[in-house]
Amino acid sequence: MSIVIHNGTHTTVAGFSQVDMPQLLCSSSYTKNANDELVFDTDEIIDGPETPVFTIMSPEGVPYDWEALEKQWQWIVETKLGAKLEETPLVVTVAPDITPEIKTQYSELALGRLKVPVFQMVSEPLAVSLSLGRNTALVIDIGAAKTTVTPIIEGTILSSAAIRSRFAGDFLDFQIHETLKKTIHGEEKEESSSSNPSFSAFCNSRTWIQEFKAYMLQVSPSRLQEMDSATVDMLGLNIPKNFLYQKRKTVSLTQKECCLITEGIFQPSVASSQFANEEGLSDIVSKVVKKAGAATTQNSSTSNVTSAEQIHTALLTNIIITGSSSLIAGLEQRIVNDLSYQFPQYKLSSFANPLVLDRKLQSWHGGVTMANLPSWDLGDWVSRKDLETTKTEENY
Ligand code: ATP
Repeated sequence: MSIVIHNGTHTTVAGFSQVDMPQLLCSSSYTKNANDELVFDTDEIIDGPETPVFTIMSPEGVPYDWEALEKQWQWIVETKLGAKLEETPLVVTVAPDITPEIKTQYSELALGRLKVPVFQMVSEPLAVSLSLGRNTALVIDIGAAKTTVTPIIEGTILSSAAIRSRFAGDFLDFQIHETLKKTIHGEEKEESSSSNPSFSAFCNSRTWIQEFKAYMLQVSPSRLQEMDSATVDMLGLNIPKNFLYQKRKTVSLTQKECCLITEGIFQPSVASSQFANEEGLSDIVSKVVKKAGAATTQNSSTSNVTSAEQIHTALLTNIIITGSSSLIAGLEQRIVNDLSYQFPQYKLSSFANPLVLDRKLQSWHGGVTMANLPSWDLGDWVSRKDLETTKTEENY
């Protein structure tokens, strides 16, 4: 029986590997209480006093507060799951591009400080694709602080072709805030006087902004500014939608205005002239496909030449769209539309888990799949003894 923990930049998901559903979903942030103890429970943070909120993971998805991560894992395993760290194998999902130094820090934390008996780090996109039964895939993960596009060919991540961008959920939080600021001017003045901006940003992001995203946001099927008014009409984009802001005020936006908020993910320059459209979602996805084609052709030995076209076909017929920000209505269709425009000669096939909860838990389920591989030697398990051996070798 192992415990699987997924530390996203926004959400942490944890549970036992034999159980279908995780036992715990909490934020990847924390506050300190009056006794200087760390508080990880999301509801407790929201209902608690206004104190600064700190994040555990960097925007790249790497821990930058190892002490807080140690305390969070301890809290998860011992307090929330009622297990003993020294007796429970631990699996954690990690970013696909972590350095050997970060890997060592993870091992030191799990095996050295927390004394778990065996530990495994699984690469998030690889775990997601294998858990969906594919060893070749183009994994598009739209999370909170980042969007990551990772090509995987026959179980191997093509790291040199993977691309990450900052246009994801947190960026949308900011866009929603900016858009509604004009509409709800009175309340905004009140909020901006908050003594703890990190606290109000945390609470807003986990309460009304989350609801706004689920009920109001949508993505237009193609570039908004290139649509003529007849198409806008036909798609019903002039129809208004209403949102009850913090049970205080009804905000009314047309569907076109809702689409404008998400357009920045595809064309960042719509949000600010400081952002380049080359960092837009569909642009980075097509860049990854092309880079993967070029990288594999370069690396292939002459006897086993894989053409760029074969790689393009393999990836474009195995697009996996994941991450909670991908739940926005119309987002999957827009990616497919843009890609068909970029790759007209290829057949495209995408998969995004249709069940909201399953999509939100996809990365954790990926970790569970790796934890449950039929034999221990199939996984990349490291034991305390292995860690000590590596250390001894390093000292010589
Ligand atoms: P990352 O992938 O950056 O490490 P994470 O794994 O913690 O982060 P996810 O849980 O995949 O991130 O996504 C969190 C983001 O998804 C947040 O910005 C949240 O507001 C947003 N989100 C959650 N539910 C929805 C929804 N129904 N529609 C749109 N966005 C949503």
